[in-house]
Amino acid sequence: MVSKFYDIGDKTLKRTRQICPRCGDGTFLAEHSDRRSCGKCGYTEFKSQKNEK
Ligand SMILES: [Zn+2]
Repeated sequence: MVSKFYDIGDKTLKRTRQICPRCGDGTFLAEHSDRRSCGKCGYTEFKSQKNEK
């Protein structure tokens, strides 16, 4: 049960995560509450669509 859940969770994570447009395939953006950012090149993408103030 645990290993199965782990496998599914890993796939979901890869699907949900966005790839860095600068670094390309294999580099994912880190999820933050209001933005996504790349730890490699510093690219930041703000989630302004959901929380517009
Ligand atoms: Zn990057």
